[in-house]
Amino acid sequence: DKDRAIIQAVEITKPKWTFESQLAKKYIDINMSLESNGLVEGVPTEIREIFINLISNAVDAMVDGGIISIKSFNVDNHVTIIVKDSGIGIEKEIKDRIFEPFFTTKNEKGNGLGLSIVCNIIKQMKGTIEVESEVGKGSKFIIKLPLKAGNL
Ligand code: ADP
Ligand code: MG
Repeated sequence: DKDRAIIQAVEITKPKWTFESQLAKKYIDINMSLESNGLVEGVPTEIREIFINLISNAVDAMVDGGIISIKSFNVDNHVTIIVKDSGIGIEKEIKDRIFEPFFTTKNEKGNGLGLSIVCNIIKQMKGTIEVESEVGKGSKFIIKLPLKAGNL
């Protein structure tokens, strides 16, 4: 647990990495609305991993360009983070399987580990992740992480 840190809830959603060349090439815009405040506890590199995986899945899901929107806000004692894309969506039949390790629909291009890693990190932070999706319209990943009491 040496790497665990108390982090400002709004900081965790600020992407400090860049997908820029990939996003421009595919005509993808990112919209951000970060209104979360308070503190969450987690490992910064792991939290970054959550967004890398969700954004790269969103990019993969968009064939003809589109919009990725990232929102965060507080609800009661949780911070809610929503990562939404306007991509191909997820078939009902596989929706329950996407978090399983090695489940992929990308053939040799995917290892199917991204969402299972995301799931484990969120579980360690005592949070939850859910998905809503409509084929042809897009997908929405909803993450809830408990806020820590106190101030920095
Ligand atoms: P990988 O990306 O290597 O396939 P993941 O665990 O990241 O593995 O995702 C598992 C599967 O879930 C993907 O292969 C895809 O079918 C589906 N999926 C995940 N995110 C999205 C998304 N944003 N839009 C559509 N399908 C998705
Ligand atoms: Mg992936």
